[in-house]
Amino acid sequence: MKETIKKLASYVPPTPTETIAKRYGLSRVAKLSANENPYGTSPKVAAAVIEAVKQFGVGNWYPDGNATSLREMIAQKLDVKAANIVFGCGLDEIISLVSRVFLEKDDEVLVAEPTFSEYGLNAQIEGATVKSVPVDARTGANDLNGFLKNITLSTKLIWLCNPNNPTGAYNDPNALRDFVAKVPKDILVLIDEAYIDFVRSTQPASAVMLLKEFDNVAILRTFSKIYGLAGYRVGYIIMDDQRARYLQTARLPYNLNTLSQVAAETAFEDQQFVAEVAAKNARERDKWEAFLKQHQVFYYPSQANFIFFKVADADQLAARFLKKGYQVRTGFGKDWLRVTIGLPEDNFGMQQIMADYLNNNIN
Ligand SMILES: *Cc1c(COP(=O)(O)O)cnc(C)c1O
Repeated sequence: MKETIKKLASYVPPTPTETIAKRYGLSRVAKLSANENPYGTSPKVAAAVIEAVKQFGVGNWYPDGNATSLREMIAQKLDVKAANIVFGCGLDEIISLVSRVFLEKDDEVLVAEPTFSEYGLNAQIEGATVKSVPVDARTGANDLNGFLKNITLSTKLIWLCNPNNPTGAYNDPNALRDFVAKVPKDILVLIDEAYIDFVRSTQPASAVMLLKEFDNVAILRTFSKIYGLAGYRVGYIIMDDQRARYLQTARLPYNLNTLSQVAAETAFEDQQFVAEVAAKNARERDKWEAFLKQHQVFYYPSQANFIFFKVADADQLAARFLKKGYQVRTGFGKDWLRVTIGLPEDNFGMQQIMADYLNNNIN
């Protein structure tokens, strides 16, 4: 077996909200720990799924293993070749698949610190070495020059989460273009755009145009965040012909079930919903940032649907949030918390708790 597995700890998902509600006697717990969409999903999704259940009944047929109609919709909207898209059971599966296909023992992988933990975990499973490049301490953005300095002959993959989870900071496509131009052509640069639709910018936010300029760029997207479909597990990667074929060879033949495909197609068609969520999120994000600024709490300006800030004894504040029914994400060191931007009333409620915490915990 792979010896590396024995030393690794698995991803810890948040405690179910029902468990927390029971523990603290709460009628409702706002889950703001996994960057899910508090506004739900497009109202059209439920109707489409129910219709599909009626049509496909007990599910005796295999799903379309090619996800043909979803593939064509995405290819058309993003102006990429349909064959260059590979779907996964969430982006999680894509991250694992990329690592499995492109990494061998003793290869090197570059990731930011902090960033989404799955990149490093999957690299380690394959026996690769993970090198961390600290984010820009002032902005929380990926340090692109830092990545360049850490490239060696063993480097195979560079993971760029953009906007970065958990800092929320963002590198624009021009900066990424300059960066990729300096990366050796045999290194694959993976740009994870899980949060790209939350970016407010007058220019196109996505780096998808770089696919036409560089063979060694891949773009990753998910339906779990702004589309509000985390429960259906749909993510995808867009990459050059040959690498896409390698991933297709290794993936499970039916990784997207029928209902997930229906849900994703319906959600993708409703771009109005996406635009509304982005606008509401931006308004609430502004309020969070104003609150943190007012209380002189250090935070990274966010372009995503979460905010990452520094506060003394973060676990204690998280525990206080939890008791009042707000679940946030801890585990980023003792002074940092990541909070998913929630519904307006929840953000307000949390800010009241936090103001009280700050006023009574000055050392
Ligand atoms: C949430 C998240 C994912 C995983 O998305 P799924 O499609 O739900 O597996 C991938 N990358 C980043 C940066 C994320 O935050």
